[in-house]
Amino acid sequence: MPELPEVETIRHDLDREISGRKIKLVEVTGTRSVRRGTKKQFIERLQGTKITGAKRRGKFLLITLDSKEWLVVHLRMSGQLLLAPAKEAKPKHTHVVITFQQGGQMRFVDPRTFGELFVVSPDSLATEAPELTELGFDPVDDPISWIKFGHLLLAKRMRLKEFLTDQSIVAGIGNIYSDEILHAAGLRYDRTSDSLSPQEMRRLYRSMVEVLNEAIKARGSSLADEQYVDVHGKVGAFQEQHQVYAREGLPCARCRATIERTKWQGRSTFYCPQCQV
Ligand SMILES: [Zn+2]
Repeated sequence: MPELPEVETIRHDLDREISGRKIKLVEVTGTRSVRRGTKKQFIERLQGTKITGAKRRGKFLLITLDSKEWLVVHLRMSGQLLLAPAKEAKPKHTHVVITFQQGGQMRFVDPRTFGELFVVSPDSLATEAPELTELGFDPVDDPISWIKFGHLLLAKRMRLKEFLTDQSIVAGIGNIYSDEILHAAGLRYDRTSDSLSPQEMRRLYRSMVEVLNEAIKARGSSLADEQYVDVHGKVGAFQEQHQVYAREGLPCARCRATIERTKWQGRSTFYCPQCQV
């Protein structure tokens, strides 16, 4: 599932490449990708508008329009946004096609169909898209101080992996980056958030910001069994720098102990049993 670094990579490229383009035609096939309101409403709110930029909140992409509304895209498990010339054959599982006046298309491709597109007015988020108003702080766009972060850790009393992946606390982190951040910080996934020393809190905070920014520089992580590619269909490179994720049985780069994989709260979790405490 794409997380903050992957969505940020897509946002950055979309902002550069589709800002100023006018939407000529919107085509929606299937019933899953546009499921809030009717397809007709979705199409009407988009056709004829001009794209003014691309923003991000957590894992949500917000494509801003000159109508003052947002086209929100949530990729979920396997969604992809691809830019392509109109004459290029559409990939299998293409569910939404947006054709620009100036030529070219943006396509939403999603084999598992958990992903979603919808149009909202920023003034009515509370009713139209409450999940956007319930997001926690953004560790890349809007980082809080480590002291404030420490107060959150103390107040929540949650396991660290649960804390990092709770979108209402920190927006944008999922299964891959929580494991990488916790390894970088030398902390176990199941440590309780209020058990950390001030030094450990600071280390966790610094690791979170550093891992996410490094992953953005490498244009995200693409894994063998997952679907992330950028708007031009290219894979990211951060998986080459993963220290624990999908590395069970391999030696830890820091202490040489063997990386373990465990199922925790229904998700695969990778960690070093020796240097994460
Ligand atoms: Zn280790």
